[in-house]
Amino acid sequence: MAYSEPARTTTRRIRTRRIGVAGLLVVIAAIAAALGYQLSASSSSTAASPIDVLRMEHRGLRGEPRGALGEADGAVPDSATVFDDEIPGVANLDSDLLGALRQAATNAADDGVEFYVDSGWRSPEYQEQLLREAVSEYGSEAEAARWVATPNKSAHVSGDAVDIGASDATTWLSEHGADYGLCQIYGNEPWHYEMRPEAIDHGCPPMYADPTHDPRMQQ
Ligand SMILES: [Zn+2]
Repeated sequence: MAYSEPARTTTRRIRTRRIGVAGLLVVIAAIAAALGYQLSASSSSTAASPIDVLRMEHRGLRGEPRGALGEADGAVPDSATVFDDEIPGVANLDSDLLGALRQAATNAADDGVEFYVDSGWRSPEYQEQLLREAVSEYGSEAEAARWVATPNKSAHVSGDAVDIGASDATTWLSEHGADYGLCQIYGNEPWHYEMRPEAIDHGCPPMYADPTHDPRMQQ
């Protein structure tokens, strides 16, 4: 008995260790799974940057059929320009903004640069749909509201904002836009322009880093 007792203990210890190792493996697997989840979660939160949201937004606006909402609600076909009066997304822009855009586009054309309208005026329904898509993308209204304005706050819905492409056009505007009162408003949205008439004399006001810093967007 004096031998068998320690032997049993040893066996038990070995079993305990085996269970311990197996348990540890389960824990490691769980941690790895959790890390994997976190990694994919963090890569999807990387994808949740405002730029990506806006790109998503642009994809939605570039003619993809989504329910009943189309050009009449502000969807803009590819290669639309600031001169396309028959497109509501262009025609419903604020007249001062549209006039400034057309002057700027005319002069930019002399430099071989063409302005395209990726998005302009949007109906409240269209904006609401973009917001709903963002809510399903980000999981909550609070999070979505950080990236996509509600219909009552969006400068696109009021016709006071335009998203211009391509990159040579936004580069041109970043150099010359202020001469026309056209200003980039958000540091993270080089395509989003609004009218700031005082910019003609004083230059554009400092940009907000992103829309969450814009007092107009705060609840
Ligand atoms: Zn915009």
